[in-house]
Amino acid sequence: MFLKGKRALVTGSTSGIGLGIARALAAEGAETIITGFGGKDEIAKICAELGASHIDADLSTAEGAEALMAGAGHVDILVNNAGMQFVSPVEEFPVEKWDKIIALNLSAAFHTIRLAIPGMRQNGWGRIINTASAHSLTASPFKSAYVSAKHGLAGLTKTVALELAQSGITANCISPGYVWTPLVENQIPDTMKARNMTREQVINDVLLAGQPTKRFSHVEDIGAMAVFLCREEGGNITGSNFSMDGGWTAQ
Ligand code: NAD
Repeated sequence: MFLKGKRALVTGSTSGIGLGIARALAAEGAETIITGFGGKDEIAKICAELGASHIDADLSTAEGAEALMAGAGHVDILVNNAGMQFVSPVEEFPVEKWDKIIALNLSAAFHTIRLAIPGMRQNGWGRIINTASAHSLTASPFKSAYVSAKHGLAGLTKTVALELAQSGITANCISPGYVWTPLVENQIPDTMKARNMTREQVINDVLLAGQPTKRFSHVEDIGAMAVFLCREEGGNITGSNFSMDGGWTAQ
């Protein structure tokens, strides 16, 4: 319970990876604030399980991010995880989707970071952890906005790390490949139908085609990495981008 007395804000933590990170931080005693969309009952259940509070905010606008940070107050651990995807050839990419992905996957982190830093500086301690992606290091076709935003997030993280280098605050990215989340699992039946494939074929030949280990990461793996970065032993790790992608970006 080494995080007792620390306040952690994890964006996009009503499901998937963010929830995994929030669970891991709460299990180490952090007072956790979750954000993200979802049913009232589902969110209340998560809050009860983690002893967390929930703040409702649309992070695809600067005002939403500002309202979140005003509501959260001081945070010791800031995890920027909320994100979305849209797939389209670049010449047909809807402009409003481009704007939204850049706003949510990149600009929201800029806003939360700039607003969290003064309090962290005052305490001489802080951890900024950004969920980037294998797509912060490499590209795939039809994901122009996502790849641009995630590369940008990796660049933002490095810049922030350098600016905060002697402040006791670290800034790092965790970059998953495919992670087993409801989002991924729910794609399988449709893809089976669309491509006339078995479940195993969809998993191995479609989803894990670029992931040499041929296995998914689990949200608990990402949570464990976030916890490690919060430890005192993680205090000299800053400006790093941790791939957790089964070898995807090693190719
Ligand atoms: P998810 O869809 O399960 O969770 C996304 C979270 O963001 C939810 O809590 C959702 O409510 C919240 N969110 C969505 N739009 C929002 C908005 N406008 N304002 C505020 N919150 C909003 O997704 P996930 O798979 O857990 O992904 C989480 C992060 O991990 C994302 O940044 C994603 O790019 C990244 N990632 C995921 C994978 C994967 O395989 N699942 C791989 C690499 C990176």
